[in-house]
Amino acid sequence: MGNVVINLEQSKITEMKNYYGKQLLTKNIPGSVFAAKTPSCMITAYKSGKVLFQGNDCEKEAGKWGSASENSANAPGKKAAATKVKSVPKGDLPIGIGGMSAIGSDEVGTGDFFGPITVVAAYVKKEDIPLLKELGVRDSKDLNDEKIIAIAKIIKDVVPFSLMTLKNEKYNQVQRSGMSQGKMKALLHNQAILNVLDKIAPTKPEAILIDQFVQPSTYFQHLKGQKTIANKDVYFSTKAEGIHLAVAAASILARYAFIQYIDKLSEAAGFKIPKGAGAQVDVAAAKLILNKGRDSLPSFVKLHFANTDKALAIVDKKQK
Ligand code: MG
Repeated sequence: MGNVVINLEQSKITEMKNYYGKQLLTKNIPGSVFAAKTPSCMITAYKSGKVLFQGNDCEKEAGKWGSASENSANAPGKKAAATKVKSVPKGDLPIGIGGMSAIGSDEVGTGDFFGPITVVAAYVKKEDIPLLKELGVRDSKDLNDEKIIAIAKIIKDVVPFSLMTLKNEKYNQVQRSGMSQGKMKALLHNQAILNVLDKIAPTKPEAILIDQFVQPSTYFQHLKGQKTIANKDVYFSTKAEGIHLAVAAASILARYAFIQYIDKLSEAAGFKIPKGAGAQVDVAAAKLILNKGRDSLPSFVKLHFANTDKALAIVDKKQK
């Protein structure tokens, strides 16, 4: 499946919207002007003027409206190798890793009292790097939730990925059994990466880049007895989101999954569940205990956090 992005004036986009009249989709994609589906191409036009064509006939369809912008994917004669690596990779990273076809992985939720750990591995082939840039994929720390959701909804159909969600019940169970968060993360990253390797087979990535959370030796120590990837292709770096867009994409997808999960928890709780591990989560957990009882906690929070005792102390005070 191919992807093409072109940039158009809003007047042209209005013209397109009329053209695709009967093929317009009713679903509302955040930030979009319209979305349409022909038998072989999905078209999404954004308020920014970017129009994304996805599908087998995307180049032909896009050709009706304009040519791919300078740095769009699939622009004829343009090699992805032209994508410059912004930061010179440090340590053992291969030179030019930022321009390679790579799997990246990252996790979200490890520091949040409420909600699961979500880990995503995503494969970005070098030809798609310019496209993802066009779509706004970058360090998710620079993006608010609204942006994360909008970008994730588009890229989930563009990049092959695997999401692993360690729900609170299970998290608390394995934590009680003595497993460290580091080991949980290693197992989740490993599984997500194996899943993506399966998905893209027989294609093999040129590199696998993990947003580093432990020393590589510890990582492989955690995975003893597990099926793992040959460790020569695996690289670790902190701030890996800035090194390869596959990690940035993985991070966005992991955050999207985490936000969705928190929304689900909020619905179950009957009030908005806060993120993080600050005083506001103590208050929210106390409210949850008062409304739903203490037994509800294990499916909402990471019990071993100090916040649990703080929430119980708030409940005690209120009940005196
Ligand atoms: Mg990370």
